[in-house]
Amino acid sequence: MMGEVAVGQPLPAPKVRQISPFLLLHHLGPLIIAPGVNPMDIGPHPHRGFAPVSFVYQGEVAHSDSLGNTRTVTGGGVQWMSAGSGIVHSESVGKELIEAGGPFEMIQLWINLPRHLKMSEPSYQPFDADDIPCFQDQTGKTRLNVIAGQYNGLQGPVNHPTPVEAFTIHLEPGGSLTIPTNQDWNVLLYQLAGNTEIGSGRLQGRQLAVFNFEGEAIKLMAREPGRYLYLSAPPINEPLAQYGPFVMNRPEELQQAIRDYQDGKMGEL
Ligand code: MN
Repeated sequence: MMGEVAVGQPLPAPKVRQISPFLLLHHLGPLIIAPGVNPMDIGPHPHRGFAPVSFVYQGEVAHSDSLGNTRTVTGGGVQWMSAGSGIVHSESVGKELIEAGGPFEMIQLWINLPRHLKMSEPSYQPFDADDIPCFQDQTGKTRLNVIAGQYNGLQGPVNHPTPVEAFTIHLEPGGSLTIPTNQDWNVLLYQLAGNTEIGSGRLQGRQLAVFNFEGEAIKLMAREPGRYLYLSAPPINEPLAQYGPFVMNRPEELQQAIRDYQDGKMGEL
């Protein structure tokens, strides 16, 4: 549970600690919020050593942080944070959605940073749906939003310190899509909903597909309306030490992170 919202957790899984650099994937909702109820109100908390990202599928998410940002992002939008050496932030369902009620669904993703970027400057990049280029094929059954990286000549708006591709995808029944993959990059496809053929396999309902390094592309064909998050990046081959909201390389760096947070060195909100 996150607040009063049930959270699906495809990553980490019992036998899969990470799919480097992707550490955590949380799927919140979908649910219908009753007017006047705030089911997710997460107070100020710190992060260090990775990039926490929120993909808002439906509804709205309000964010405030120790850099002075206060922003609400609505459906189709993304909040892309890099915690670097430290950031303190809070997250809640947006005010208008709480007042009016309505559908809510989001994904939270943690992307690890390599050792040389763990103590970099923190940053926060909000994007509305209008900021994100959308690829549509001639059939009208396929939509792919380019959030980070490139697809079919479209460049995503995210500025991330390491190479990463992040696309949200919508397919109507019969819609198909081919995504070229980079050699030696990890590739995941999370299906939020749908019934989809992938190569010789099939995804049904909420499932996370992890691909091996063979082949040059993945190909999807939707049997039912499908919604997906595609992620790909080169793996980080470094030791992982994690404690709560801190992701470092060595245990003593976690102790330092706890001390730095307690001493106010990650900022205040
Ligand atoms: Mn957080």
